[in-house]
Amino acid sequence: MRQISMKRNHLSNPFKIKGNWYKGNLHTHTTNSDGDLSPEEAVAWYKDRSYDFLAITDHGKITKVEKKFPDFLLIEGVEIGAEKAELGQGYHIVCLNISDLPELKEVPSVQEVIDIVRERGGKLIIGHPYWSALTFSDIISLSNEILGIEIFNSTCDLAIGKGFSTVHWDDLLIRGKKVYGFAVDDSHNFTAAPFDAGAGWIMVKAKHLTKENILEALEEGDFYSSCGPIIKDISIDGNGKIKVSCTPVVRINFICDRTSGKVFRAEKGSSLTKAEVTLGEVKYVRVECIDKEGMAAWSNPFFLKKWA
Ligand SMILES: [Zn+2]
Ligand SMILES: [Zn+2]
Repeated sequence: MRQISMKRNHLSNPFKIKGNWYKGNLHTHTTNSDGDLSPEEAVAWYKDRSYDFLAITDHGKITKVEKKFPDFLLIEGVEIGAEKAELGQGYHIVCLNISDLPELKEVPSVQEVIDIVRERGGKLIIGHPYWSALTFSDIISLSNEILGIEIFNSTCDLAIGKGFSTVHWDDLLIRGKKVYGFAVDDSHNFTAAPFDAGAGWIMVKAKHLTKENILEALEEGDFYSSCGPIIKDISIDGNGKIKVSCTPVVRINFICDRTSGKVFRAEKGSSLTKAEVTLGEVKYVRVECIDKEGMAAWSNPFFLKKWA
């Protein structure tokens, strides 16, 4: 019998563990770099919209927020530009849980950034691969040292239509590289169009809203990404049957490696709130739920045990 595992090293299933759902954005700019709200205003913007946590990730500097925001978690972060990749553009690396930075070279290598952040107990996400013209080969050698990649970036979508990096994600997953997918705002424009805040977020399942619990959940993959739809449940049984339920959408995609996979579409004028499929011989499966506005929610991938 084929087993699909939900254990740590097979990628976790956040829908089957105890805890609470917390909403957050992990990529935010303020007036400390090229954002248009002060750090305190940016935090208040998210808190007022029922977010639970936020990472401020100004370019090249760690922004400190002095004011206290009760019942709201701030994760210190920074976005660091690094060397040019295959197609001639540089990496942008979103670094989380980092409270100090040494003097950096003007254009550090990716490995230098990784080493600096990991030495300090931080975590790394590769920002907006499509916008950065990164190819999977630019990322694959880093994949054991990063949490994942941004699969949706609001400001990259609004600026040049290159916000979605799900093909980069599948290019890594098909090679057995277990990286997570993150939807983020990369918010800069809170006060003038194109408004890029509040468009992409993650929902994290964790015991409590503490830095330790949220970071551990990110490490375990206990979250999903969204631009709108809510994924209510995902079940996977030992026979490869996967079921999903969600808020009303017009399309549910089960994305697998190669040409496996399945799409369910609602009849015109109606909607779907669940779907299930029994998988064939696949390495992994991930779920996308897409509503009538074209907004998506993305699960993290589940690997079949033989590939785990
Ligand atoms: Zn960037
Ligand atoms: Zn950014």
